[in-house]
Amino acid sequence: MRCPYCGFIEDKVIDSRESKDADSIRRRRECVRCHKRFTTYERLDEIPYMVVKKDGRRENFDRQKVLTGLLHSCQKRKVSVSQMQEIVDAVEAFVVDSPERERSTASVGELIMSRLKEIDTVAYIRFASVYRDFKDVNEFKMELEDLLRSKDPRQRRSSGAPMTHHATQASKTSL
Ligand SMILES: [Zn+2]
Repeated sequence: MRCPYCGFIEDKVIDSRESKDADSIRRRRECVRCHKRFTTYERLDEIPYMVVKKDGRRENFDRQKVLTGLLHSCQKRKVSVSQMQEIVDAVEAFVVDSPERERSTASVGELIMSRLKEIDTVAYIRFASVYRDFKDVNEFKMELEDLLRSKDPRQRRSSGAPMTHHATQASKTSL
């Protein structure tokens, strides 16, 4: 804690006690450089972090909800729980980093999708089909084709070749 008198960043805690109703901790500190004393209060950060839905409604950010969505998308896939937890951690950091204390569900969804895309294609497609609001089936198909093309080097070489049929088949069998 920066000393309010001389600005030095090191101090030692001389005394530390919880308030009567246990909602804060008071610490008496002494600056290591100028030896002046000052007090800090530590409180639980109780203001919730929010996610804003497309229609403008807000709800509390909920780690569990993110994990539940991931578990659903990753069912029977080779994605470990620790990999999912890493994504949840990244999402939480993203929300908490926001100066407004809130993020749109769309931006949260994009973050999750970009992570899933690197780990497991099927899980990514499952998640994307729920999360991203595809305007119609064609838009979803285009995304799928892009993905298949970028995953398969043979397809990349013959870029521009129509592969609608192939993509449709793949989505039917692997989802
Ligand atoms: Zn000082």
